[in-house]
Amino acid sequence: MFNKFWQLLSHDIGIDLGTVNTLVLVKGKGIVIREPSVVTIHKKTRQVLAIGSEARRMLGRTPQTIEAVRPLRDGVISDFETTEAMLRFFIQKVHKTPEGGGLKFPKIPRPRIVVGIPSGVTEVERRAVQDACFSAGARQAFLIEEPMAAAIGSKLAVDSPEGVMIVDIGGGTTEIAVISLGGMVASRSLRVAGDELDQDIINYMRTRYGMLIGERTAETAKMEIGSAFPGESKETVIRGRDLGSGLPKSVKVSSDEIREALSSTVSQIIGAIQEVLEETPPELLGDITDRGIALAGGGALLKGLDKRIAQETKLPVWVADDPLTAVVRGCGRVLDDLDLLSRVKVTGGLR
Ligand code: ADP
Ligand code: MG
Repeated sequence: MFNKFWQLLSHDIGIDLGTVNTLVLVKGKGIVIREPSVVTIHKKTRQVLAIGSEARRMLGRTPQTIEAVRPLRDGVISDFETTEAMLRFFIQKVHKTPEGGGLKFPKIPRPRIVVGIPSGVTEVERRAVQDACFSAGARQAFLIEEPMAAAIGSKLAVDSPEGVMIVDIGGGTTEIAVISLGGMVASRSLRVAGDELDQDIINYMRTRYGMLIGERTAETAKMEIGSAFPGESKETVIRGRDLGSGLPKSVKVSSDEIREALSSTVSQIIGAIQEVLEETPPELLGDITDRGIALAGGGALLKGLDKRIAQETKLPVWVADDPLTAVVRGCGRVLDDLDLLSRVKVTGGLR
């Protein structure tokens, strides 16, 4: 009885701690925070200067004394303290903003938090994320693996005996999993995803045009004209610096060129999908043949990626609705369904 009352008052939170974007959902309110997973710190004192959108604006433009870091860049927590600072910042922000309900901890029971974490993180790192939740005021903190959260957020029946397959392509990692009966039957966590595609464009511009471009320029080109499957031809102007003269330079680049630049990384991702399929028991493979492979994460938005994967795996492939929010929505769904949470969590509970 008391517990029920407690649950009605408490604002439970779901968090997608992504390599590029952090999303926070408040139960009953929806997604209240979508910010880059970036922190700027003072190089000498290690003092945190800015977090989230404000920090991202400084990426690639910081003076020598300031460093902008993405603490989860490769799907592992490279910097423990920075990750904790970031997590605490976002949790506390929810409690201060009106969109977050203007929650204040002293008056309202402390929340239960579900965090989606890359499946590659170690036991020590999990503990770190959990402790960060507690120190930010959580009453309970549960961790679930991102592919599981992405599958739930994509409305796949993770609980049924039939197999489902999810591919979550983020910035730093691609998570591939076949799920049945609430568990991962076969999976891969690849440190190759959207960032690598940006890097491919940077490398292409260097070797083909002798020109240096920034990460954000490369990412913009990828989103605007990048593709994984031949389609409508497009062009864009890319600006950077001529490597010979050191002067500004712009060149017109076609979508065919960009597709060529991206193709080996796309093949690597497909290779990993094929490996997971090879490890999948035949019964489940039959289910996936019927239901197809679901794509989530920002990388799922690369034009023609679904077609290319379908062509190479000979399986139906579809992009989840709003793929960038699949993980956080999955965390939200398990907050509503504690039975499901107890089946899919990897770590968690009271402090
Ligand atoms: P993470 O979960 O690792 O934080 P996200 O799922 O938020 O990552 O996805 C971020 C990645 O998705 C970035 O590499 C970004 O460039 C890429 N992305 C976002 N939109 C598009 C798009 N329209 N086309 C191609 N890539 C995209
Ligand atoms: Mg993600």
